[in-house]
Amino acid sequence: MKLILSPQDLAINGASPAFEKPLHVGRPNIGSREAFLKYTEEIFDRRWLSNDGPVLKEFEQRIAAHHDVKHCVAMCNGTVALEIAIRALGLEGEVIIPSYTFIATAHALHWQAITPVFADINPVTHTLDPDAVRRMITPRTTGIIGVHLWGRNAPIEALQTIADEHGLKLMFDAAHAFGCSYKGTMVGNFGACEVLSFHATKFFNTFEGGAVLTNNDDLAKTIRLMRNFGFSGVDNVIHPGTNGKMIEIVAAMGMVNLDAIDNVVEANQRNYQAYYEGLSSLPGISLLTFDESEFNSYQYVVMEVCEKCPVTRDKIIQALHTENILARKYFWPGCHNMMPYRELYPHAGLMLANTQYVADRVIVLPTGTAIDYKIVKTVTSVIQILIESES
Ligand SMILES: *Cc1c(COP(=O)(O)O)cnc(C)c1O
Repeated sequence: MKLILSPQDLAINGASPAFEKPLHVGRPNIGSREAFLKYTEEIFDRRWLSNDGPVLKEFEQRIAAHHDVKHCVAMCNGTVALEIAIRALGLEGEVIIPSYTFIATAHALHWQAITPVFADINPVTHTLDPDAVRRMITPRTTGIIGVHLWGRNAPIEALQTIADEHGLKLMFDAAHAFGCSYKGTMVGNFGACEVLSFHATKFFNTFEGGAVLTNNDDLAKTIRLMRNFGFSGVDNVIHPGTNGKMIEIVAAMGMVNLDAIDNVVEANQRNYQAYYEGLSSLPGISLLTFDESEFNSYQYVVMEVCEKCPVTRDKIIQALHTENILARKYFWPGCHNMMPYRELYPHAGLMLANTQYVADRVIVLPTGTAIDYKIVKTVTSVIQILIESES
């Protein structure tokens, strides 16, 4: 790692890159290898690799307890968990979602011949704007999927009110919100159900994985059936279903990573603080904040570049990439600008001014246990020197 003290030290000005190896956003957080290998031995000894194994059962109980919710149904990934939850709730026709989210939120609907209707976001919170949601309701609307983007809650009460007024189902894509809370209540307890992702890049990972959290006994039962082809005991299929099962070794990864999450939060919080110190006084730059009175994972360091910044967002990204700092423009350019939605709904953007505005400003910076204070300092000095040299 080199010191960045003047514009001559920047790789875009011909110096060597700050980092030899690329610094990725979402580098996996990994718990104890020893504990994982011990689980592996036990799983092999038992020869019970999948289908409601003992590790899975314990894992589901621990995830439910962690979120203070009655049921956790773990799955092979977050997208299948979304698809199954959507189907179990009986959603059809049109479902309102933000466009400013990972593409899976939209695909999980389109995949089942449901129309994702994109509603605009609040430019300050980056989550659904309840007034925009109201504007998108039609006679075909059956539900709303709020997204707790960056782990910060969607407008839960306002969306519930709208859902109740119009007889719509409400669920949440909580892929970013593992272990986060709203007004002291853990995510997992809102709407009809909430869906987590345990993908490798997420705060908490099981290589790949996901889960539906709910307090509704009947819904949990249906989702469990759907996860395993509708099997209720041997030779007895009582429901349509698919294969969404989480395997034992994956649940074992979850067990060891669950033991490590306090360290991950600590590392993320420390990195966030260091980013804040380095970036918050720069002109036209702001860092998205977290409500300190809630549980947060600080998994996403979200920097916004506004018009007052003398350097454009894309130029900052380019400078960072040249240093081998692989910062990302999440969720640019918005789902509505990706296929197939771009062609299916070519005018969707007309209603999505704030989505466009936010998608054009955001840079997500690397954090997690693979990053420390010195690394953050180097990243922030690149941005600082770049901006100062253009001011
Ligand atoms: C990661 C993610 C998903 C999909 O989860 P997978 O486990 O990768 O299938 C869905 N929605 C959002 C907002 C995500 O970030």
